[in-house]
Amino acid sequence: MKPKVATVWLGGCSGCHMSFLDLDERLIDLAEKMELVFSPIADIKEFPRDVDVTLVEGAVANVEHEEFAHIIRRNSRYVVSFGDCAVTGNVTAMRNAIDTEAVLHRSYVELADINPHIPREYPTIAELMPQARPLHEHITVDAYIHGCPPTAEQIWSAVSELLQGRMPALSHVYLRYG
Ligand code: SF4
Repeated sequence: MKPKVATVWLGGCSGCHMSFLDLDERLIDLAEKMELVFSPIADIKEFPRDVDVTLVEGAVANVEHEEFAHIIRRNSRYVVSFGDCAVTGNVTAMRNAIDTEAVLHRSYVELADINPHIPREYPTIAELMPQARPLHEHITVDAYIHGCPPTAEQIWSAVSELLQGRMPALSHVYLRYG
């Protein structure tokens, strides 16, 4: 049976997933070696059980991310912080020095073209957390892929190791922060 792989998009810009797609023809090799069971590039609504490897892009920035992070952890053998926003907070955490209400006001009132108001209906939009934090501050993380975004080479190397049940070795070449 092929290893089950998931990729998740939390508080990030999707650039890490774009870099994943930069694997180009190697995606065909990967498709033969693994089964993609959940991803923003697949129309699957619920996170499945018994996933072997989950790559998580983005920081934990809102309450929905936090809840999802725990669902991922419960159902994944290996959880990987995928890119610098997941690893350190990076770009997503740049707003941490600013009061959350000021961030919301800037986003939803000052920059609104129509209907300026701060949404407070949390069933339709997730409540922002006071700070965007790296994934490992919320759940146990097994491996880290650095970079903003990680290069296709880094992703290929790390995923290849993980699919063989090995932890990817960190190289100084890969310790490049955004
Ligand atoms: Fe985007 Fe860089 Fe964050 Fe990846 S690490 S989500 S590319 S800002």
